[in-house]
Order: sequence, then structure tokens, then C-alpha cells
Amino acid sequence: MENNGIVIVGGGLAAARTAEQLRRAPYAGPVTIVSDEVHLPYDRPPLSKEVLRKEVDDTALKPREWYDENNITLRLGSAATRLDTHEQTVTLADGTVVAYDELVIATGLVPRRIPTLPDLEGIRVLRSLDESLALREHASAARHAVIVGAGFIGCEVAASLRSVGVDVVLVEPQPQPLAAVLGEQIGELVARLHRDEGVDVRLGVGVTEVRGEGHVDTVVLTDGTELPADLVVIGIGSRPATDWLDGSGIDVDNGVLCDEAGRTSAPNVWALGDVASWRDPLGHQARVEHWSNVADQARVVVPAMLGLEAPDVVVVPYFWSDQYDVKIQCLGEPQATDIVHMVEDDGRKFLAYYERDGKLVGVVGGGLPGKVMKVRGKIAAGVPISEMLA
Ligand SMILES: Cc1cc2nc3c(=O)[nH]c(=O)nc-3n(C[C@H](O)[C@H](O)[C@H](O)COP(=O)(O)OP(=O)(O)OC[C@H]3O[C@@H](n4cnc5c(N)ncnc54)[C@H](O)[C@@H]3O)c2cc1C
Repeated sequence: MENNGIVIVGGGLAAARTAEQLRRAPYAGPVTIVSDEVHLPYDRPPLSKEVLRKEVDDTALKPREWYDENNITLRLGSAATRLDTHEQTVTLADGTVVAYDELVIATGLVPRRIPTLPDLEGIRVLRSLDESLALREHASAARHAVIVGAGFIGCEVAASLRSVGVDVVLVEPQPQPLAAVLGEQIGELVARLHRDEGVDVRLGVGVTEVRGEGHVDTVVLTDGTELPADLVVIGIGSRPATDWLDGSGIDVDNGVLCDEAGRTSAPNVWALGDVASWRDPLGHQARVEHWSNVADQARVVVPAMLGLEAPDVVVVPYFWSDQYDVKIQCLGEPQATDIVHMVEDDGRKFLAYYERDGKLVGVVGGGLPGKVMKVRGKIAAGVPISEMLA
């Protein structure tokens, strides 16, 4: 039988981490990474931070030699357009057909746009390195930026643009930034941080119209306000990049549906990272869009694929967001509906414990990394909140 090996579709963090775990396993067969981007797999967190602030240009996760030394074939600049799970083949945009023994879907997300906006220069989204470099270029000539959406990416872009001297208005229909994820109490502290840095934070309003001739010049808000703008960044979230799976029969529902080890509904097909919705121990499907989750999943999916025993580790979910000099960190699984106990707030730095059913389920800190990390064991153990507040 021909040895087609393992084909990974997607060229981001999930692809790199999977390839790394495969060689570490060790799996000696062929490994191919198929990516629609021309760049080597790179890291995205710096795109809204260091890259926009012109501190770095290259965020490659591994140098090209690493792929050569590990005998990993890179097919860059080749989008996968079709999957045939019976023939076990992937078709690329140029018509090439690539056969696999095992397939890993790692295609990440596509940023949402506002379809009703006109096609004007100066309206941008941010997901890729090319988009970050283009946004940076625009920002270097911009004076007034309007950022639509105060989620993590919108807030980070606001912070980065402020730090390169652009006037920023941050527009968010929710009552506070990040309210849907972390709740309004923490959102209020995030709004305060941005206002302290000179960002004009407009809450409870959306965008009705963007005007300009060729280039954007005005943004109109739902309350009728007209804002001057030579740069508009749309940060209203992303959707799983699953269009290429249409017709494949793979079950998709807000991401590729997987079991708790990353198995999809088709034999020999796996998925991980931002595109994948894994089943959690309670039987719920959950899609996570955070960096450290990718490595956690790669450590599970690779042994499962190779028929090896998976390491038995307790994972406490973690993510961070850098805004100005404040690193916002979130450990555990806090939800907007939890009871929030603010245990520290000096006007800039803060620490909050999240309670559900009387137990500690998460901690969110701003600028207090030591104190956040100290709570990891307590979250894993699900200690009563009373123990934390005593
Ligand atoms: C600007 C930005 C800042 C972030 N900051 C943080 C942070 O501070 N903290 C944090 O925890 N997380 C952060 N994240 C999230 C983190 O980067 C993601 O969780 C991580 O990148 C997910 O990796 P992935 O490989 O699943 O997806 P991606 O990194 O998106 O990689 C998917 C790859 O697949 C390619 N692809 C898509 N479709 C096809 C196709 N049909 N054929 C071939 N290739 C295809 C894409 O072009 C891309 O290269 C940030 C994300 C962004 C965009």
C-alpha cells in the first residue's frame, strides 16, 4: 500500500504544533502542510501588538530549516478547495490532488466583515500577517481611526494604534468592552484603561454607515454621531474557515464537530485549533479561539491519531491579551454570567475571581501575572469560593 502519510490543511499554529508533536511522537512517515498563505506558519498574537507597533515584522513559528530537517513538506500558497473522504484526497486550488492516510483540518478562522459597507480604501480587518502589515502601513498615514468592535482584537488594535500616535474611537454596541466574554465588571475596567490612554470609547452604539469617495472619511454611528475617520478597523469576530469542506459530508456546526480527541465525523479525519469544536467532558461542543488551547489539543490529537496513549494532564484553559503595559490574563473558564468578586483594583491593575455554583471557576487579572498564575491549582481543584475570599 502507498504511504501517503499525514496531510495537515492550514498553515498556522495548529499546523505547526501538530507537525511538531508528530515528529516528537515519533512518527516517521510523510507529513505535508498545505496552506493558502505564502508565509511559513507564523504566530498571530503579535499581529495586533508588536507588528502594529513596528517592533517586529516576522513572526514565523519555526525557521524553514526546521521543516527541512524534520522532513516536513510545505505546500504554501495552495488553498485546499475540496475534500473527498471516501477517496481520502484533498484537491488544491491549482487542481492538484493530494492523497492522505490521515488528514488534519487546521484552517482557523475568517474575519467577519460588514457586508453593507461600501468598498472604500482604509477599511480593514485583521487576521493575517499581510493584513497586519497593510493596516500598519495605513496607520502610519492615518490621524483618525475608528475601531468597530471592542473584543480582544479591537481593544488590542486600539492600544497599538494609540501607541503610534493615532487618535482612536472604539465603538462597541455592548454595554462594555469584552462584556460578552468576561462580563460587564471587568469590561468597565478595560474601558477605563482605554479612556486613560486617550481612546474615545463609545458604548451601546453601532455603525450605520461609512462614507467616503474612494477612501473612507466618515463613520456614522447609530446615535447619529458623525466621526471623521481615515482608517476603519472591523473587529467583530470571525467564523470558522470551513467553506472548503462543503459537500465533504464532514459534520460542521459553528466549526468542525469533533469528539474529545479531535476525531471528526469522517474516518481518518481530525481537526484542531480555532476551526474545531471539540466535545468537552460534559458532552458539550465548544470551540476555543485561544493560543494555548492549540498546543493542548495537539498533545491529544496526535497520540489519538497514531494509536498511542495520550498524556493524562489536567488542562486549565488560559489566554492573555496585551493592552498598553497591562497584560490581561484569564485562567479557567470564566463566563459573563458568573458572579465576579473583585479582589484587587488600584485604578489600573486588577484581579477578579469568578464564582459559579459556589466554586472558583476562573480568575481574570490585569497587570498582575503572578497573582493570576498562583490560582491555577485552586481552579483545577474547583475549591469553594469562600476559601478564596477568606
Ligand atoms: C490578531 C490576533 C491576535 C491574537 N492574540 C491572541 C492573544 O493575545 N492571546 C491568545 O490566547 N490568542 C490570541 N489569538 C488567537 C490565536 O492566534 C489563535 O488561537 C491561533 O492562531 C489559532 O491557530 P490555528 O492554527 O487554529 O488558526 P490560524 O492561526 O488562523 O491558522 C489557520 C491557517 O489556515 C489557513 N487556511 C485557511 N483556509 C485554508 C484552506 N482552505 N487551505 C489551506 N489553508 C487554509 C489560513 O490562511 C491560516 O494560515 C490572536 C489571533 C489573532 C488573529
